[in-house]
Amino acid sequence: MQELLKELVEKHRKTTELGKVASYIPELEKTNPRNLGIYILDNEGNEYFAGDYDNKFTVQSISKVVALMLAILDNGEEYVFSKVGMDPSGDPFNSIRKLETSSRRKPYNPMINAGAIVVSSMIKGDDAKDKFNRLLEFFKKITEDPSLELNPKVYLSESETGNKNRAMGYYLKSEGIITGNVEEALEVYFKQCSIDVTAKTIAKLGLFLANEGQTSTGEQVVSNRVSRIVKTLMVTCGMYDNSGEFAVRVGLPSKSGVGGGIVSVVPHKMGIGIYSPALDQKGNPIAGVCLLEDLCNELKCRIF
Ligand code: GLN
Repeated sequence: MQELLKELVEKHRKTTELGKVASYIPELEKTNPRNLGIYILDNEGNEYFAGDYDNKFTVQSISKVVALMLAILDNGEEYVFSKVGMDPSGDPFNSIRKLETSSRRKPYNPMINAGAIVVSSMIKGDDAKDKFNRLLEFFKKITEDPSLELNPKVYLSESETGNKNRAMGYYLKSEGIITGNVEEALEVYFKQCSIDVTAKTIAKLGLFLANEGQTSTGEQVVSNRVSRIVKTLMVTCGMYDNSGEFAVRVGLPSKSGVGGGIVSVVPHKMGIGIYSPALDQKGNPIAGVCLLEDLCNELKCRIF
């Protein structure tokens, strides 16, 4: 396996040249676009890795998965999904247009920015700081990684340039979908996106979901049902408006982030973490997706 990963990283180093590092958050542009790494953890305790598996990058939209689980724990499934839908939007992750034109009013799903901002608004706590800390502690618990922390430079960069996210937050507040303090919701959202991780952290998150919400010590942190909901939304919406094609090519519940991460879940077997900051036009890691496709061909581990 270790050899296979090395080969695949070598092969797809070239694929990174077809993509571009996200630049709309200026701090993200400083990354080397040629970076590519993978980390795999399995249920037998084996760890396999290759390439830039040790580099730090911000978790970005992969945090939407973590925030969704915590929001459901805090509020229950029924309340959360009264404010955000469960269907693909067919639009880019940062699209604003359907918020006004769709008859359903609430954002289509929790994996696009509008839906994720609503989810962040539902995390409990005294103020934005407390809410974010609860999310960070939850993230540490499920990944069993006590070293996780905020990247303050990326956070500032996100907050300074996040005008579209702010616009969506205020619009959702005006429609009564966000009921609490909208600035707090945005602060939590920008901060959760700016947590530094490595491919291993992401693989741990994948293994947690592969084991139906259990940590390696056997603690059931979220129920089977919540874990199933999250994985289903990852399949249908996790790669934004490319989720259908991704499901055909890769066929694993996955979630990407513009920092270059992808978490993939092989149910009851493995968690996979990818780091691949050069993105395709939909904002997904271009080499990371190709690497996963080859890996699934080799391991025959697709869920379909
Ligand atoms: N922080 C980013 C944003 O809000 C997250 C987007 C992403 O990773 N797709 O635009």
